[in-house]
Amino acid sequence: MQNPTATHAVHTPQRVHILGAGPVGLVMAAMLQSMPGFSIRLYEKRTTYTRARMVMLASYLVADSLSAYAADEVDGDNVAAIFDATELEAGLSARRSVTAKLVALIKDWSQGFCPLNTIEKGISALIEEGGPSPVERIVGNVSVDQALAMVAPDDIMIDCTGCNSLLRNHLVPDQVGEVSAAERNTYTLRLEYAVNVTFLYGAPYQCNEYCKYYKNHGNAQYKFIPAVDRIARDAGVTHVFGIISISAEDFAAMPPTCKGDYLRENFPAVAVSMDRFIEQIDKETGGQVISEIEIVRIPLNLYHARNATNRAWHVKSASGQSDDGAHSFSKASVFLVGDAAIGSPYFQSISLGIECAMFLAGLLQEGIPMSDVRSQYEARIYKQWLRVYMRSKTIKHNKDIFERLDDTFGILEQLKIY
Ligand SMILES: Cc1cc2nc3c(=O)[nH]c(=O)nc-3n(C[C@H](O)[C@H](O)[C@H](O)COP(=O)(O)OP(=O)(O)OC[C@H]3O[C@@H](n4cnc5c(N)ncnc54)[C@H](O)[C@@H]3O)c2cc1C
Repeated sequence: MQNPTATHAVHTPQRVHILGAGPVGLVMAAMLQSMPGFSIRLYEKRTTYTRARMVMLASYLVADSLSAYAADEVDGDNVAAIFDATELEAGLSARRSVTAKLVALIKDWSQGFCPLNTIEKGISALIEEGGPSPVERIVGNVSVDQALAMVAPDDIMIDCTGCNSLLRNHLVPDQVGEVSAAERNTYTLRLEYAVNVTFLYGAPYQCNEYCKYYKNHGNAQYKFIPAVDRIARDAGVTHVFGIISISAEDFAAMPPTCKGDYLRENFPAVAVSMDRFIEQIDKETGGQVISEIEIVRIPLNLYHARNATNRAWHVKSASGQSDDGAHSFSKASVFLVGDAAIGSPYFQSISLGIECAMFLAGLLQEGIPMSDVRSQYEARIYKQWLRVYMRSKTIKHNKDIFERLDDTFGILEQLKIY
């Protein structure tokens, strides 16, 4: 089936399987539901949405002009260098087909930090209201074999299963002399190991680069680098998300998660940078920490799928080599969207994933041949990868220098000029 809206809109809706109903799978389902011609199955292994961690949506998600879209200080030049104006315009027009209700929700959530499960529950409720295309929600943990068995030759399968994507490394046929199965279709760059410190603060607070510098005065080894913003639905409460860079040895010695007091007792040198920050904002605002201090130790990885679709299966099948034409992915169309396709630290992933979902929905709505949808999606996602790669490397480089301020030779070690 090549043309969902024109050829099959009336009698045979295009079957779409969306694997994973996290924020990106949900946006994908909501977008396709609002367009006629699809029959959507949304598979999710969790029965309830419990992830209360705060995420920040980028303002470019709700930009309605090219200048607003490229307004980010670190990203603006990259966007202009990577995309041409017609591509950017195509991206903006894809999101004009986003329903007014979904736009309103995203605008609301992008005012500040927002709990992930508020986003998940909000889009789920929108889907429950119904739309021109039906969505059937199926609870269950889909395996690779089940995915291969359920996808019929002309179906569309969209993998939104997150960073440990179910299908990412199954999108390319086996190759002679290949690397490990886990790396077959995944490129990963470890940027750093970090401790993420999060808490709510009971007063409005802003923190620019001067503030970040002065609040680290006296922190010789570990620097607390905060991202500070209001809570989306309560301007009086500030969410603090601090990143402390740690060594591989620290990382190995720490539990995956703990509370602030555990960090103080067991890793006092790391904790002191966090406490110095808290002490100073208490003095400035008269406010106080109003939640538990949550600590997560995490490797900050930047990765992408070298193939974000199953194009390699189609190429192999068309070449007539072996019996790969019998493989389910030789006939259907498979797409990776969200963290399944690209993952990056520094508050970017979720917005990038939502944007890719909007772009794919726009392509599917056009009713062009699926081979064109696959290649246009590949081209787009590769450019998104370049964009996030450049932005992440710039941020990491700036962080490295920031952590050595006042240490001239330390900074020079970080710099390669020619
Ligand atoms: C501590 C922390 C803070 C973060 N803060 C930010 C931030 O401020 N800004 C930002 O942009 N990003 C942030 N992120 C990243 C952000 O949470 C992810 O980018 C986002 O959740 C990705 O959405 P997704 O829908 O692609 O994947 P996920 O959110 O991982 O959702 C995948 C879904 O698929 C389901 N699933 C998985 N496998 C299967 C299967 N086999 N069968 C059925 N269902 C399956 C899962 O249950 C899940 O619901 C943060 C991440 C962490 C860990």
